[in-house]
Amino acid sequence: MEKPSAQHHPVKNKRRFRNTLLKWFQANAKSYPWRETTDPWSILVSEIMLQQTTVTSVLANRRFENFLQEFPNIKTIAIASEEKILRAWEGLGYYNRVRNLQKAAQTVLHDFEGKFPSDAETLETLPGIGRYTAGAVSSFAFDHPAPIVDGNIARVLSRLLDYHKEVDSTEGQKIIWETATELLDPSKARLFNSALMELGQTICSPKSPTCLICPVRNFCQTKTPSCLPVKKPRKKFVQIDEHAFFWFEKNQILLSKGHDSRRKGFWKLPLRSPEECAHLELLSQHCYTITHHKVTLHLYHAQPPHLLEGEKYHLISELSNLPIATPIRKILDQKAMELGL
Ligand code: SF4
Repeated sequence: MEKPSAQHHPVKNKRRFRNTLLKWFQANAKSYPWRETTDPWSILVSEIMLQQTTVTSVLANRRFENFLQEFPNIKTIAIASEEKILRAWEGLGYYNRVRNLQKAAQTVLHDFEGKFPSDAETLETLPGIGRYTAGAVSSFAFDHPAPIVDGNIARVLSRLLDYHKEVDSTEGQKIIWETATELLDPSKARLFNSALMELGQTICSPKSPTCLICPVRNFCQTKTPSCLPVKKPRKKFVQIDEHAFFWFEKNQILLSKGHDSRRKGFWKLPLRSPEECAHLELLSQHCYTITHHKVTLHLYHAQPPHLLEGEKYHLISELSNLPIATPIRKILDQKAMELGL
């Protein structure tokens, strides 16, 4: 069925637009643990966690609650070891996020006497906090009139405006942020930003927006929602082949501490060059994706002739305490099961 035509422009009729959106949200708002709090630390954790990790996955595994149980405030994370913070973030990927969370906590503790700044401009000066996250903490924790634009909101706004240029270009970002600022209800920033996000998550979805039940359909200028937003072409995946040793003895397994940018701080299987492994019998092959890399891991059951820096034996019973990237942990679990370790 065709999308209904708009009767009002959202920006020219912003009061009416806000009221319509808020009325819908107040009747339909979903309940999330991060909506039950106005504590800036908890909100910052949720915002950082929900970048690149879906709401469903965070909720299903109680990642938000578990993380806050381990680090209930900035003091606890500020003094934690790298191993501890990586272990707490394991499986969520993009590990610089948790490193930056720790740095942000340390900065608030040392430079702001332990008190989170409330305005978006100051929040944006904290490590790892961009314009979106600064606006989210400012509006959700302090109800300050700070606009936010994430992927959901950019999609909704591009459709409301019928904007057919790239939303992630400099010009596109400027227009989308200006519209978010213009539409924001300054007296109800927390509610309004939550409502706009939720509209994008539930009704104005990427592939099949349900325009016929959309509360703001009368304001929406586009007739071709599924063609919007227009984005820059995506980065291509880089294919990588890695050759690793799988060696255990006396209930201990050989692991190596990662120093490369993809796995810094994590324990992984010891890697060698393809030439060093050429004469060895292949044990198995595993394919997985990490950020923009598609990795094929060739695994050899062999003892390396000598250990390299950072390589060390670990008791198999202690693996659960170590930070190990999810694909490698899956391989270790699979091999442990196959070999009855
Ligand atoms: S669902 Fe999205 S595209 Fe459809 S009417 Fe609502 S805002 Fe417009």
